[in-house]
Amino acid sequence: MKKILIVANWKCNPSTLKEAKELFNSVEKGIKNVKNVEVIICPPFTFLGNIEYKTSNIKLGAQDCFWEVRGAFTGEISPTMLKNLGAEYVILGHSERRKYQKETDGMVNKKMKAVISAGLKPILCVANLSQLEESSKGISEKIIVAYEPVFAIGTGKPCPPETAKKMRDKIDYPRVLYGGSVNSQNAGNYIKEAGFEGLLIGGASLASKEFIEIVKGVDFISKT
Ligand code: PEP
Repeated sequence: MKKILIVANWKCNPSTLKEAKELFNSVEKGIKNVKNVEVIICPPFTFLGNIEYKTSNIKLGAQDCFWEVRGAFTGEISPTMLKNLGAEYVILGHSERRKYQKETDGMVNKKMKAVISAGLKPILCVANLSQLEESSKGISEKIIVAYEPVFAIGTGKPCPPETAKKMRDKIDYPRVLYGGSVNSQNAGNYIKEAGFEGLLIGGASLASKEFIEIVKGVDFISKT
């Protein structure tokens, strides 16, 4: 059986490498006995090459990348650069990038293809089926999809598990994560009741105690 995936999206946090290392080390220590969950930590780019990890149940991911490998693209980071820094996963199409950087499905689709060509695993964030269809056009790989209803992201208003389940049932991919105001009280419901294969966690991944509790709780219910 495949492990449940829990992805931590640190977004534009924390401010210093010292804080990033403290958060990472605290999570690593707290989940060292977890067996049924794979944790993917996605810090800001600048911390990626600086975080040392020893635990095999933590992998590193990035929060975005560009679609070209190199060239005159000021400010961009390529999939190859990310791979060379130890990242294995890349979050793409996050609603905050769609909103603030005006990313379209076409741009996300190009990024998806570049990430796959570089041998990295994309985690495609979608708020609806149309975004899923457009952003995954021409891709036959069994990508990881994250269903993230926009109203639930960072708002403290999670999507009711029974509503999220209806969406999970419509997505024909083997690994679909739920994201949107997940915390230690509601995390298990998205796995047990709604049938998701993992979670994408923003705010709660910045508080190590809460994040460890989420991971341990999901690990526990996966055994039962
Ligand atoms: C996210 O960043 O994808 C997210 C789901 O954030 P939050 O958990 O804070 O709602």
